[in-house]
Amino acid sequence: MADLQTIIAHAKEYGFVFPSSEVYNGLQAVYDYGQNGVQLKNNLKMLWWKAMTQLNENVVGIDSAIFMHPLIWKASGHIDGFSDPMIDNKDSKKRYRVDHLIERKAELLEAEGKKAEADKLLADMDALLAKEDFAELLQLILDTKITCEVSKTSNWTEVRQFNLMFSTEMGAVADESNKIYLRPETAQGIFVNFLNVQKTGRMKIPFGIAQIGKAFRNEIVARQFIFRMREFEQMEMQYFVRPNTEKEAYDFWKEKRMKFLQALGLPAEKLRFHDHTKLAFYANAALDIEYEFPFGFKELEGIHSRTDHDLGSHQALSKTKMQYFDEDVQEKDKQRYVPYVVETSIGADRLFLATLCQAYTEEKGVDANGVEKTRIFLKLPPALAPIKVAVIPLIRRQGLPEKAREVFEMLRYDFEATYQEKATVGQNYTRQDLIGTPLCVTIDHQTLEDNTVTVRYRDTTEQVRIAIADLPALVGKEVSVKNILEKLK
Ligand code: ATP
Repeated sequence: MADLQTIIAHAKEYGFVFPSSEVYNGLQAVYDYGQNGVQLKNNLKMLWWKAMTQLNENVVGIDSAIFMHPLIWKASGHIDGFSDPMIDNKDSKKRYRVDHLIERKAELLEAEGKKAEADKLLADMDALLAKEDFAELLQLILDTKITCEVSKTSNWTEVRQFNLMFSTEMGAVADESNKIYLRPETAQGIFVNFLNVQKTGRMKIPFGIAQIGKAFRNEIVARQFIFRMREFEQMEMQYFVRPNTEKEAYDFWKEKRMKFLQALGLPAEKLRFHDHTKLAFYANAALDIEYEFPFGFKELEGIHSRTDHDLGSHQALSKTKMQYFDEDVQEKDKQRYVPYVVETSIGADRLFLATLCQAYTEEKGVDANGVEKTRIFLKLPPALAPIKVAVIPLIRRQGLPEKAREVFEMLRYDFEATYQEKATVGQNYTRQDLIGTPLCVTIDHQTLEDNTVTVRYRDTTEQVRIAIADLPALVGKEVSVKNILEKLK
């Protein structure tokens, strides 16, 4: 697999991802999607949406607002708990997450063969973090002689909590009373609409609500390109179940989500489950699905069994009953209850990065003159490709552009198609390979005589001659989302 720098350079060069506000030297951990990136991202989101809502009869979608009542973040625990202990180095002004800083030291100790010392350090850290004993955490950093990687000094500030939520004011007057937050996750919009959807959709438990939307976190350590951003997009699904049936739902979604990622072309050997050993106090099971990025196995998606914590907290704070009345059970069994929730949550941007890393292919071969060459192409599943088909006239004369335009016109309504007449056919093939276009259609002199064209396949570079009349069916078959969604059966 290519390294991350190669992927970043390719993403920039071919219109997938640009640093935000680049002409002003960028804005850290914020990115813009370019002309090809937006298509790929939309295709990923569309497939997730279809996989969730179209292929599960009991899952429906919503689109809730980014701004929400501030008490929502009180109920969810984000105001009090969504923070990380941080420390600043006074000399370099660099800010660190305390756990990351100590973990780095433990890694260094282990590399020096001091495994026991490293283990003790991590155990001490865990105990102090659990107690939120910040004074002792600072002491631990000083005692272990941890230094800043930039200034090389141990001139540290106090350890402080740093909330990851962005805030702003709503209305004309800026004061504490109208402070609101940019949502740090989309899930809460689903919880507070649970009753609306259940009643208006006459949903019967178990059922799910899915949503795709922006989320914002003031991440401290924001590195690794679009893996960790301050503004990102989540695709979340909350599945509401009868208490004591959550284990079944958890296992069901765990398998289903893994299948989805594999159907998108991420290979089984690069995906793994990682069970959480430390659970949040309300959770009774949690895992990550990790993908092997160029920088190692990292979380791509989270699956959490959250009991009735979320609906229960909103019920308590809003004084609105978040209950479900189960007509299908006997009166002696509990008919009225606050449902339990199993959630699946994946970052659209992380999935984009995984897909791009996976698709990037360098293939060694020889050209027509016998010279060794490396061909670079994006081996995207055709349904995901930003452009599905490129239509190219062999030359820009003798009626070929006109004929090619006719073919383009025939395809553009159903497929993301592009018409390309500048540069040679070969150069166009190369260009389309680099953005992952699965099919190129070339119009030549023979086309004018017998209405046939050459179709060139991206992955094999194989070329076949077919009738123009057969093109829509061929393109449709190649790029159909069914090729992916069928694998979820
Ligand atoms: P991490 O441990 O990597 O910070 P998390 O456990 O906080 O992630 P969740 O709150 O479970 O993440 O969010 C669900 C999903 O949202 C993650 O699996 C990830 O794909 C995505 N996500 C979370 N934070 C970010 C971010 N800052 N940038 C991009 N995607 C993110």
